[in-house]
Amino acid sequence: MDDVIRVVRRRLLRWYKKYQRDLPWRHTRDPYTILVSEIMLQQTQVERVIPKYHAFLRAFPTVKVLANAKTADVIRMWKGLGYNRRALFLQRAAKVVCDEFSGVFPDTLKELITLPGVGDYTARAVMSFAFEKKVPMMDTNHRRFYTRVYYGIKDVSDKDLLITAEEVFSKCRAYDWNQALMDFGSTICLTRVPKCGICPLQEHCKAYPKILTSKVFKKKKKKQSVRFKDTDRYYRGQIVDILRGEKRVLIHSLQSRFSDIDSIRFNEIVLKLAKDGLIIKGRKYIKLPQ
Ligand code: SF4
Repeated sequence: MDDVIRVVRRRLLRWYKKYQRDLPWRHTRDPYTILVSEIMLQQTQVERVIPKYHAFLRAFPTVKVLANAKTADVIRMWKGLGYNRRALFLQRAAKVVCDEFSGVFPDTLKELITLPGVGDYTARAVMSFAFEKKVPMMDTNHRRFYTRVYYGIKDVSDKDLLITAEEVFSKCRAYDWNQALMDFGSTICLTRVPKCGICPLQEHCKAYPKILTSKVFKKKKKKQSVRFKDTDRYYRGQIVDILRGEKRVLIHSLQSRFSDIDSIRFNEIVLKLAKDGLIIKGRKYIKLPQ
């Protein structure tokens, strides 16, 4: 195993050196900026995040500016990224950093996961990408890589994968390693159709022989998915979008714009938005939180 670990490490880092993506958040070690990028990347693709990342940082260049901003402005600036609650969490995290850590970002897992919207993975990402700490990370790209290369095609617990990860990168720059796995997982070791033919790790990958013969990886199954336009998330986004352009909106007139859903569902969506803190609901009007 030691030899395999060494070879895989060397090959992957060599691959990364040649093919790494030039992403704006790789030019900084500012924990605030890294956190902004990580929260944006949680559910949005890199290409869509890049322009929004620049615009957001122009509007809120420091953690203090974000903490003191009007929440409505933060939600407005989130337009186009989806999952608007992330904007709220990000601002709440900024407030906690300012109020409880005197504006200085914490650098431990224990403290980072106390920030709103920051889970285990995001905390590790900030530790690794801002503070260059030697911590393994486990997002879908990392998980897929460790599983396939070291275990084959089977389910492995995150606990075991983290142990493997610790072993694997104990002798390399954790920053490069973690970034390399992000790029490798998004461009080569893809979920459904991994590009094993051009993969530098092919001969050491436990999953490779099985992938060669498995039908699962050959055909793209057509998923029976629900149309986005039929989901509550779609209507939530639409309502917040309307509010981005208005000071306040009459609930009654807003409802008439959504004649394709019944009033019970509309009211439930509005109530949930209010409960999540994304809107303020009065008796007649709704608006973004100020
Ligand atoms: S050989 Fe295929 S499955 Fe294995 S690491 Fe490379 S791309 Fe992923």
